[in-house]
Amino acid sequence: MTGNLTVGGAIFDTGSQGTRLSNSKLSAIVTRSFSNGLPKDTNGVYLVLTSSDVSERGFCTQFCGFHTAQTLNGTDIKWGFIGNSDRCPSGCEIQSTGPNSPATNVGGADGMINVIAHETEEAISDPDLNAWFDSSGQENADKCNFNFGATSTCNANGLCTAAGTSAGANYNQTFGNNDWMIQQNWENANGGGCVQHFP
Ligand SMILES: [Zn+2]
Repeated sequence: MTGNLTVGGAIFDTGSQGTRLSNSKLSAIVTRSFSNGLPKDTNGVYLVLTSSDVSERGFCTQFCGFHTAQTLNGTDIKWGFIGNSDRCPSGCEIQSTGPNSPATNVGGADGMINVIAHETEEAISDPDLNAWFDSSGQENADKCNFNFGATSTCNANGLCTAAGTSAGANYNQTFGNNDWMIQQNWENANGGGCVQHFP
């Protein structure tokens, strides 16, 4: 898969699989989405984002998120899991108060956008887990995991929340009238390296 990514839609699953998730329960949530408003698209990436009261086997202890591919309803579907990083800020957030935090030490959305960028980048470059990875098995975003490059602090441009500003939260990108702290991703060109923007 190549090219730009657009947001195709979002739905809320109000706890159909409970608050202790596993791989099979995540698959069930994605499958349910096809009959609850999302198109079934083999070129899509389906991300399951959870609230902070939801656990997942392996989340926080082995990973902050993951992406995979699976045949669901007869179609090769690329899906991923993005856990709420407020469950484990020390392992899954670069800072516990981020540029968009509504309150001190509530960093979930800021932590999750970083994992979203990581997993979607990999779902695009390695959709079926047999495309782009290096000789040690690292996918694109793994090579730059939690590598943020040059950063600024929140008081620089007035776009952060009050909590983010008073915490002196860091950010490295500005778009959509918000500041964001998002890891860099790997670029093969120019000798290879971690970059914030592709040229
Ligand atoms: Zn990865």
